[in-house]
Amino acid sequence: MVGTKRYKAVVALPLAEHLLAQMAECDLVVLPGGRADGALFDKAMADAEGLLVSSNVTIDREVMASAPRLRVISTMSVGVDHIDLAAAHERHITVTITPVLSDAVADLAMALMTMLSRRIPEGMRAVASGRWNETSLGGDLAEKHLLIVGFGRIGQALATRALSARMRVRYVDSRRDVSPVPGVERADGLAEGLPSVDFVSLHVDLNANTRHLMGKEEFALMKPGAFLINTSRGGVVDQAALAWAIAQEEIAGAGLDVLEDEPPRSDEPLLVAPNVIIVPHIGSATTETRAAMAQCAVENLLLGLRNDRTPFAVTPAGAQ
Ligand code: NAD
Repeated sequence: MVGTKRYKAVVALPLAEHLLAQMAECDLVVLPGGRADGALFDKAMADAEGLLVSSNVTIDREVMASAPRLRVISTMSVGVDHIDLAAAHERHITVTITPVLSDAVADLAMALMTMLSRRIPEGMRAVASGRWNETSLGGDLAEKHLLIVGFGRIGQALATRALSARMRVRYVDSRRDVSPVPGVERADGLAEGLPSVDFVSLHVDLNANTRHLMGKEEFALMKPGAFLINTSRGGVVDQAALAWAIAQEEIAGAGLDVLEDEPPRSDEPLLVAPNVIIVPHIGSATTETRAAMAQCAVENLLLGLRNDRTPFAVTPAGAQ
């Protein structure tokens, strides 16, 4: 293909053969271990123009400095807390995301609420140990109050599910211009919204303003019978404060897909706390959604390398 421009790119995640084949216009270095591949990663980045990563590979200022030709970082996630967006912006590096996972994450948040309210883990444990008809009564979701914290793509996808379960739904969001969802009201901040609800579900992005958004003070505002659901990022919750709140019966329990340390330390108190369900960061982990994310990430990378407009580019808050 004489005259066809070729691009150098690093694929720092495991990717199916048919997707690698779609990047025929690239000279690829495939390092599924990402930065854990050490010197091989550093060497590949030295002349890479594009980088495909997932949310478990930290791309900080130092990595960008070691990649003087880097123009595009395509992450197979919607969270970008693993990428130094300000550093990328300064270098005019395009950062793209894969917002094709909202249904999968909203399904999981709904599942965690249902499991907690219907005491499903307790029932499973009873049956596994040979007992039947011995679990306490659970609660309905219908008519229960849900506060969605962060009313973006996933928060809104959860709202439609919760409304169809006949829950009463409110939200808080720092943006004034979020799209309205009929039947969902805005709460005037956490302090106003938390005291009256039965479930709080977190869907904010992790940034300096949302780190430990839920701490002791916030848990103390919640009803003793209320549950916390977190499918956003572990850092949004002060985990020590959550363990305290559950031990003190300030709240009833939690459903967590994400933790401050993943995997958690073996002495993490939440691992043995009552009414806590922890799943291993599986928000987007369905066959269909992961395939759609990988396809989207490849397309984003190619569009970025060709200097074509990418619909899923993100910039740091406040950047022009
Ligand atoms: P989004 O950008 O569409 O929505 C985030 C919303 O949070 C925005 O409306 C924003 O204004 C709001 N927000 C930010 N700071 C806030 C604050 N201090 N108070 C109130 N609202 C605030 O993002 P999304 O696609 O809905 O994803 C949300 C997050 O979910 C991602 O950033 C990611 O960290 C997480 N996520 C987790 C998984 C998983 O596997 N568990 C999968 C996908 C996404």
